[in-house]
Amino acid sequence: MSEAKLECPFPKVFPSQFLRDDVFYMSLAYNQAVDAWREDEVPVGAIIEHGGEVIAAAHNQVAGVGDPTAHAEILAMTQAARAIGDWRLIGATLYVTKEPCPMCSGATLMARLKRVVYAVGDPKMGCLGGATDLNALPRVNHHLEITRNIMEAECRELLQAYFRLKRVDPGE
Ligand SMILES: [Zn+2]
Repeated sequence: MSEAKLECPFPKVFPSQFLRDDVFYMSLAYNQAVDAWREDEVPVGAIIEHGGEVIAAAHNQVAGVGDPTAHAEILAMTQAARAIGDWRLIGATLYVTKEPCPMCSGATLMARLKRVVYAVGDPKMGCLGGATDLNALPRVNHHLEITRNIMEAECRELLQAYFRLKRVDPGE
């Protein structure tokens, strides 16, 4: 992208540590998305929770590292596997600010995640119920629990503002 860097006008949020619910973890994913914008990346962030602890935090880095697979979810799953010493992320929950794309949705199944929580559905590329649903493949043994629309308004606003200000196609 050749446009000048655009400062992120959205502040981070400071969720209470006392109630570690879906909004708490999604707030951390939101803050990762803000970090993505601050690095001039499409603002998508992800967190992985396991046993009540955050074991991974990442944001989209496609432009910065020049890698089409450097999505927040993929980077977070790699971190999480290192953190627990097992590629099977059994019992872990991924929180992500935008519905996972075909690549990331596939990876969530391959990683055996317990649950995926996302903020903004993506009717164009989302593959956990938006455009299609890989989790519903009839012959796949592993199925994810899915929770949708946690902090949907905030995460949508962040994404829409980014694309509006950058005037680029949100097709990713
Ligand atoms: Zn993706």
